[in-house]
Amino acid sequence: MERDDSSLNLVRDALEMILIFDRTGKISYANTAAKTKLEYGSELCGRNISDIFPNDFRVEGERFKTEYLFGSEIRSLMAYRKNLTCFPVEAKINDEADTGMYVCMANDALEKEHLGKEIAQVKKEAQLAMKVKSEFVANVTHELRTPVNGVLGNVRELLDVETDGQKQKTLRTIERCCDDMNKIINNILDFSKLEAGKFTLEPRKFQIRDMLDYVKANHMGKITEKGLDFFMTVSPQVPEYVIGDELRIVQILNNLLSNALKFTAVGKVTVEVLKTAQVNDRIELFFIVIDSGIGIDKADQDKLFQSFSQVDASISRKYGGTGLGLNICKQLVELMGGRIEVDSEKGRGSIFSFSIWVSVTEQEAKASFATDAVRTYSFAGGMSNSFDDSEKSDAKEYGTPENQEALSKNLSKLILCVEMENWEKAEMFMDIIRQLTQGAPREVGRVILKLKMAVQKENYDKVTAGFEELKTFLQG
Ligand code: ADP
Repeated sequence: MERDDSSLNLVRDALEMILIFDRTGKISYANTAAKTKLEYGSELCGRNISDIFPNDFRVEGERFKTEYLFGSEIRSLMAYRKNLTCFPVEAKINDEADTGMYVCMANDALEKEHLGKEIAQVKKEAQLAMKVKSEFVANVTHELRTPVNGVLGNVRELLDVETDGQKQKTLRTIERCCDDMNKIINNILDFSKLEAGKFTLEPRKFQIRDMLDYVKANHMGKITEKGLDFFMTVSPQVPEYVIGDELRIVQILNNLLSNALKFTAVGKVTVEVLKTAQVNDRIELFFIVIDSGIGIDKADQDKLFQSFSQVDASISRKYGGTGLGLNICKQLVELMGGRIEVDSEKGRGSIFSFSIWVSVTEQEAKASFATDAVRTYSFAGGMSNSFDDSEKSDAKEYGTPENQEALSKNLSKLILCVEMENWEKAEMFMDIIRQLTQGAPREVGRVILKLKMAVQKENYDKVTAGFEELKTFLQG
């Protein structure tokens, strides 16, 4: 008789075959998979286990006989269907000693093998599709460069001869758009090369302090434009020359620095370079980029180094970007044998640090083995080395003398931009003013909002009126 109590319903629909039999070998339960695969109907119950596994079980009197070792190990058996054809299975038969029953669980080995082959095939096809896609992306982006550079070249030629102020402004906008587009194209190109494993580093000897000067010069315009403090320190232990991929180190630093500057409205950005280890002629360099900007929520920090990831949609709308930069940095840093890390606190700033291994010349290697101690830079532990916490938070707390000073400095810059009709910069200073007035009384917030709207609408008269109103509030 078939046992079909409700406790067995769970196993009824299992994908593997399940048979329960007693000491005589008589099958008392078979689930749907067993009935289907063995091509019996409900008459499977009542048959003997020796009908299913005749090579391993036989009936002798009241009991079945077997050489089979019961237990948790999976064994290969040959299962016979009703029509006496057979197929290999992977089976596990447990001896339920207290009930006198045996439970057999078996999988069709051919099906498993077939499934394995199918999975391998799908994987192969997916890898091929990935490769084709990466190559396609690499080719398209490469092709995009030519027209963009064509537009850029022509715009620059026109800029050399154009005297009309309005037309010059339009040409500058086109020039900036082309530069931005080139940055995106280069990022996609690097990303697809890295993903396809086709990226190779090109090490050569270079002067590290010259490289850092070059990086600083790249960002000086933005630093002055935003009125930020900027500090760069290089430990004396860092040698003069190193052998590494200068272009890629510059790329990582440029990415971290432009993020630091993009997301910092007030305060300072610091860069530090240390030598943290040496093994023969290989040294580890440690770079730290610290900013006092908007910071990143702890929960979002893990996502940062994933491709196409930006902290949230409102940030990408406001600041732009593809979210590829940090992923590329991570892959480059890892190619150079290092790690990249972030520590940040929302509203207080961020610390990005990375290590890389480079070579030094034979003389440099012999000259000094001295290294810098690895310091911990974290918001939680305070940043006594490079950052003065109190100074930083004061600058953002509404009403403190530092805040008032920063506010009046940025208000003058705003009005200067408005007078020069540089609305883009004016918007940036408006953002800084908004950050500086966080926590201000409601009426100040109202004036700020009015002022911001006027700046966005490029309305000179309304801005100057709003400016006067705000100044009165602040002075009162
Ligand atoms: P993109 O290539 O678009 O600039 P990144 O990978 O460099 O993107 O950065 C991804 C996101 O990480 C940014 O959009 C921003 O939300 C966040 N982020 C990176 N650096 C900083 C920083 N210094 N301060 C605050 N947010 C940051």
